[in-house]
Amino acid sequence: MPLLISEKLVTWYLQAHRNLPWRKTKDPYKIWISEVILQQTRVEQGLPYYHSFIKKYPNVKSLATAPLQKVLKQWQGLGYYSRARNLHQAAKQIVEENKGKFPTEFDDLLKLKGIGQYTAAAIASFAFDKPQAVVDGNVMRVLSRLFAVSLPVNSTAGINFFRKKADAVLDMTKPSLHNQAMMELGALICKPVNPLCVECVLNKDCKAFQTGKVSRFPVKEKKSPPEVISLHFLIITKSDELMIYQRNGKGIWKGLFEFPSLEKKGKVKWKAAEARSKLLEIGISKFSIKTNHDEINHLLSHRTIWASFSFVNASQVNLKKAESAGYKLIRKKDLKKYPIHRLMEKIVSLAGIEIN
Ligand code: SF4
Repeated sequence: MPLLISEKLVTWYLQAHRNLPWRKTKDPYKIWISEVILQQTRVEQGLPYYHSFIKKYPNVKSLATAPLQKVLKQWQGLGYYSRARNLHQAAKQIVEENKGKFPTEFDDLLKLKGIGQYTAAAIASFAFDKPQAVVDGNVMRVLSRLFAVSLPVNSTAGINFFRKKADAVLDMTKPSLHNQAMMELGALICKPVNPLCVECVLNKDCKAFQTGKVSRFPVKEKKSPPEVISLHFLIITKSDELMIYQRNGKGIWKGLFEFPSLEKKGKVKWKAAEARSKLLEIGISKFSIKTNHDEINHLLSHRTIWASFSFVNASQVNLKKAESAGYKLIRKKDLKKYPIHRLMEKIVSLAGIEIN
């Protein structure tokens, strides 16, 4: 039975798959870049980024030797910037520890920064034809319906189960084609909502379809609601200069630039005194401030952000104090050189700051 499923899948895939550039290559570097871009991004949105990234950094060495800030700039707009930081770090690992040669084994791929089970299996099978099943959201959805599995796809027990199930149905002789086919079926036919069961090549094997229970699968555990935070940005200008700050710490915006900001848990109304004391902390003692009343709701997978901003015209800046706290003044027209996150892009646009 498992081989039958795989045979049907591969036959369907060969005549129905989308024509995507990373499907035409065995280059592990290009496969890796495409897989990382597609992890949190739709194909249509990721495609232009894939082309421009490969054009700018055509191989692992060019990526490893590029400054991180430039890599983040190239990534701007895709979000989840840890992906770009990890790509850069892993490229350095490959160059420094493996003389620029991509590891071919699943276990060695797993040692690279940011490469988890899914990406390691994708590279090992697509580039090197290793018999390794890939398991992503699409694959788990197909398997959960095919075998009517009640284990939640977002639980550890569920993920372990689906990994074993994916291995069991894998055609060891054609791992690359099999994996591509399984993922493509999930993307095009066995869609999250309104799957196209009537035209599905697996509908006779599908337990959920045969029992009329497709809508019950996949099962998902309820997650806690996203954390709510408020951010108030201070757009500080001094003649033709702007003040910016590079995020550090562990957050998803680490390494990106933004305007100085105040942050609090929950949805709050900011008091003028809070902005004033932040300005003093930065080293700005003489200023005029004008608060904008637009409120921006920005959603991340784990956070709901309520953002607002004020314009600050600074006439006196203690640069030494500002720089020691991590802030710097740059020419307004140079802002486009710095990698910024999506919310910062929205603030820049709402504030009417020209960066292109
Ligand atoms: S029959 Fe429907 S539910 Fe079953 S695998 Fe095909 S598309 Fe998915």
